Amino acid sequence: MSDKPEKFIDENGLRLDGRRVDEIRPMTVEMGVLSRADGSCYLEWGNNKVLAAVYGPRELHPRRLQRPSEALVRYRYNMAAFSVEDRIRPGPSRRSTEISKVSGEAFEPVVMKQFYPGAVIDVFAEVLQADAGTRTAAINAATLALVDAGIPMKGLVASCAVGKVDGQLVLDLNKPEDNYGDADLPIAMTEDGEITLLQMDGNLTADEITKGIEMARKGCEQIFAIQKEALLSKFGTADEEELLKEAELQAEVATSEDESEDVEVISETVSDEIQAEDDEPEAEDDDEGENTELQDEEEAFTDDEVGDASDEAEDLFGEDVSEFEITENAESEDDSSSEPEGAESDEDEGEKNE
Ligand code: UDP
Repeated sequence: MSDKPEKFIDENGLRLDGRRVDEIRPMTVEMGVLSRADGSCYLEWGNNKVLAAVYGPRELHPRRLQRPSEALVRYRYNMAAFSVEDRIRPGPSRRSTEISKVSGEAFEPVVMKQFYPGAVIDVFAEVLQADAGTRTAAINAATLALVDAGIPMKGLVASCAVGKVDGQLVLDLNKPEDNYGDADLPIAMTEDGEITLLQMDGNLTADEITKGIEMARKGCEQIFAIQKEALLSKFGTADEEELLKEAELQAEVATSEDESEDVEVISETVSDEIQAEDDEPEAEDDDEGENTELQDEEEAFTDDEVGDASDEAEDLFGEDVSEFEITENAESEDDSSSEPEGAESDEDEGEKNE
C-alpha cells in the first residue's frame, strides 16, 4: 500500500491526479456487454472497473420470499479477489453485505416494482478493479444495466462521493484521498434530486455536509449526462435530422392509413351497389331473369358471326361442333335450376383441361 502523501492539493489547486477539487474522474460506459444477462453495463471511472448485470424480472424462489404486490430487488455488490492491491478473501464480507443493502435501497424510488408482483430482479455489481468509489461506480453501472434489462423506471440514479483532504472538500475521491483523507461521504440521488444513499466515514461539520451534498449534486448531474448519452447511443438518437425524418415517416404512414380508409369507404359503396344490383333480379323472378339475359346475349350475335365462329371451331376440332354445343346448352339449361354448383364444376374442369 502506498504511503500517505504530504499534500493532496498543490498550490495551483490541483489534486494528485491533476483534477480540480470539484472535478470527477473521466468515466466511460458500455451497455449490453453480457449476452446472457437481461441487462448489463461495463463502467470505467478513473482506475475503477465495474461490471453490472441484471437478471429478471423472473419468478422468485423460494415462494415464501415473494412479495404479493411488487417485485423484490436484490442487489449484490462484490469485489473480485484480484481487484485490489492486497488480494481480498473471496465471498461475502461485512463490508460487501452492507454495501449491497444500501446500494439496493438507492433504487427504491425509481424501480417500478409494482409491475412484477411475486418476481425478483437481481442486480449483480462486480468490481474488477478498485481505486476508491467502487460502491458509487457500481450504482452508476447498475442504473444503466437496469435500463438495459428493460425494467420500468421513473428515472435514473447517479452516485458520487465527496470527501475532505487538506481541510478542503473534494469531489469524487481517488484512492489516496479515500484512504488518508479526513472524510468520505458517498451519495446517490435520483434525477429529481432525491437523495437515496448517504453514508459518512470520518468527520465533517454540518456546514461541510451541506456544501458537500451540493458538490455531489453537481457531480451527479455530470454523471446523469454521461448515462443519458450512453442511453441515446444505444436506444435512440439526439440527431434532430433523424427525429425529423422519423416524424415525416410517421406522418406518411398516417396519411396512407387515411387513404386506405378512403379506399375502404369507396369499396364499401361499390359493394353496396353490387349487392343492390344482385338483390334486384332476385326480388323479381330469378331463373327467368337470367334466361332472358342469356337470350339477349345470344341474340346480340348476327348469323354471320355465329357461322364464322362455327367454322373456326371446325378448323380446330375437325368436326361440326355447333350441334354439340346446342345439345350441351340444352342439357345445362335443364340442369341449371337444380344443380348450379355441378354446372360450375364442369366449367372449372373445362378450364383446367384447357
Ligand atoms: N479497499 C481495499 N480492500 C478492501 C476494501 C477496500 O483495498 O478490502 C480499497 C479499494 O481500492 C476501495 C477503497 O479501498 O475502492 C475504498 O474503499 P471503501 O470501503 O471506502 O469503498 P469504496 O470507496 O470503494 O466504495
